[in-house]
Amino acid sequence: MRILLLGTGGYHPSERRHTACLLLPELGILLDAGTATFRVMPALPGRTLDVFLSHAHLDHVVGLTYLLAPLALGELEAVRVHAAPETLDAVRTHLFSQPLFPVLPPFDFRPLDASPVQLASGAAVAWRRLDNHPGGSIAYRVDAPDDDGGMRRIAYVTDTTVDGSYADFVQGVNLLIHECYFPDDEHGWASKTGHSHTRPVLELARDAGVRRLLLTHVDPRNANADPAELSRFPGVFADVAIAEDGMDVQI
Ligand SMILES: [Zn+2]
Ligand SMILES: [Zn+2]
Repeated sequence: MRILLLGTGGYHPSERRHTACLLLPELGILLDAGTATFRVMPALPGRTLDVFLSHAHLDHVVGLTYLLAPLALGELEAVRVHAAPETLDAVRTHLFSQPLFPVLPPFDFRPLDASPVQLASGAAVAWRRLDNHPGGSIAYRVDAPDDDGGMRRIAYVTDTTVDGSYADFVQGVNLLIHECYFPDDEHGWASKTGHSHTRPVLELARDAGVRRLLLTHVDPRNANADPAELSRFPGVFADVAIAEDGMDVQI
């Protein structure tokens, strides 16, 4: 399974990162639609897209507006937007309100109900509600068959603090992509805003038997190469890196 990290920042774009948007090109799956969504079309081999939204905050949904032109021009034939019902309501009512963006693209809105969501490609997208961020968020796990008859699993968890309630959901995945907006010194801000800081994310990955960890949705105001200050935690979890825009990962 291949995953392209198109946007790896939180809150607002920076010179280094656009906001949350991850593409699984072979499966036509988009996880969140932040400002990096303008990068989807050149990287997408097919003509359909299943978008899964973690929640309705602008840094995760604004890029839905960028899909209007590809749909109108026929470069995209169908876009299904999967999210919690309240997220879809917020997108329809507010993002596509007449004064903000007057044309609602012909999206197929699919409120999450049963888990997992089965896709025609054979991939299954499981989801889990998280309650630690203002308004809540949804974590996703993509399970897809590989060429050898086995399974590959990616979990995407963003806009939450780490509380242990979803360790089973990410257990043993090949790749966990988890938000880490704050370094540990700013843990007070992490709990105040419903975000994560470094050590608990590393410990979650270790305790859940995750194979590989990428930290995403980092603070865009921090332009350092290591905004999570990973160098302070040698030995907690070895196979970890900071996600960067343009990373092309094969698992
Ligand atoms: Zn966010
Ligand atoms: Zn948020």
